[in-house]
Amino acid sequence: MLTQAPKGTKDTLPMNIEKWQSVEKKFHEVCRAFGFSEIRTPMIEHTELFARGVGDTSDIVQKQMYTFEDYGGRSITLRPEGTAGVARAFIENKLYADVLPAKLWYEVSCFRYEKPQSGRLREFHQFGIECFGATDMVADAEVIALADTFLKSLSTPSLELHINSIGCPTCRPIYKEALKAFLKPKYDALCDTCKSRYETNPLRILDCKSPVCQELTQGAPHMLDYLCDECADAFDSLQKNLEAYGVAYKVDPGIVRGLDYYTKTAFEFVTNAIGAQGTVCGGGRYDNLIEELGGPAVPGVGFGLGIERLLLLLETVGADAERTHDTDVLFVVMGEAAKRKALSLLPLLRAEGLSAETDIVGRSLKNQFKHADRIGAKYAAVIGDEELTSETITLKDLITGEQTKTAMDGFAKYIQRKVTGQEV
Ligand code: ATP
Ligand code: MG
Repeated sequence: MLTQAPKGTKDTLPMNIEKWQSVEKKFHEVCRAFGFSEIRTPMIEHTELFARGVGDTSDIVQKQMYTFEDYGGRSITLRPEGTAGVARAFIENKLYADVLPAKLWYEVSCFRYEKPQSGRLREFHQFGIECFGATDMVADAEVIALADTFLKSLSTPSLELHINSIGCPTCRPIYKEALKAFLKPKYDALCDTCKSRYETNPLRILDCKSPVCQELTQGAPHMLDYLCDECADAFDSLQKNLEAYGVAYKVDPGIVRGLDYYTKTAFEFVTNAIGAQGTVCGGGRYDNLIEELGGPAVPGVGFGLGIERLLLLLETVGADAERTHDTDVLFVVMGEAAKRKALSLLPLLRAEGLSAETDIVGRSLKNQFKHADRIGAKYAAVIGDEELTSETITLKDLITGEQTKTAMDGFAKYIQRKVTGQEV
């Protein structure tokens, strides 16, 4: 137990960190290109926020939350998703009084008590987008285009965008009744979870992972046939906007999303390359969330993108991560005076923007060279007695094997030019 991480959690070790950093860097770049700014909110929130914001009848609130009482007797929950906390921050900090839309992005860890399996963890991470204050379907198209641009930049060919509309409080109740009427004769065969969903949230039955329920919902009526004029026009606009941007999509009446606060647009980027947990990104519009949480009537649209699932997909398609760390120079030192000389030179190299290291475990000369190879250093800068006397450095290019002598004085600038490929 002591040396085992809790079930459903994972360490990200240094040898895997580049994969994370390269998708993080890409996401930041794409968000910037679309004019979104980062927001950071606490990992814990009051439990009521999720009960209200995610919905009492959702699987998340009913059986997946990590909730505890703190020493002050308050009920606190580790965030199971990003939207509720960002919506709370938007209201609490009165961001609605600033220029709208508020275009926000975040990267968060989320906690859900689920059955761990490939692509399903108890602590996982999401990139998220929230755009508050825009009703026009151009906003939905921009949010979807952001996800599309990001995913395409990583070369994930097997991902498909599926879109749907789940209507609004005007048209959805009528559809719900039609769906219930369709499911009524099949009620007894539904799984226990779906039996309870039948009254509280029948739409979610369409999203059930059980093969029996999936079979039973074949031929169910589609929300798209029940949309009110406003929602139908919006869905039409959304499709035209996506076409204008050049984002390929498929209309999929099966996309209902797990969360209660969605209105109109619902979308997912799905793949069948990583097994059963194939939804990499899911999102949509939630025009009533901010008001539901006690804020003004401000509409919203956004998405959550599971980073572990994305990395799983990238691994499956064999995409290489961009390398984010290389050692430029390793000082190879012999003797106390040489060690100290290296210590005095290191800050100068680092100030030039180089990645520079020295031996800190007392390796032999031979092993210092071996270590340089192991960490993929570009240059070994050797300092021994002779170098100290002549105030030089023996520089070995570890890629070509070429060895030269150079003056200690001005070494940082000299090596910086060499590393960046400038004339020296
Ligand atoms: P699923 O249907 O797979 O359970 P969900 O509808 O619960 O997904 P959302 O709440 O919309 O998922 O979260 C957005 C994204 O976060 C998902 O599309 C997925 O990529 C990721 N995600 C959700 N739950 C997990 C989990 N337990 N482990 C890893 N990633 C997850
Ligand atoms: Mg889920």
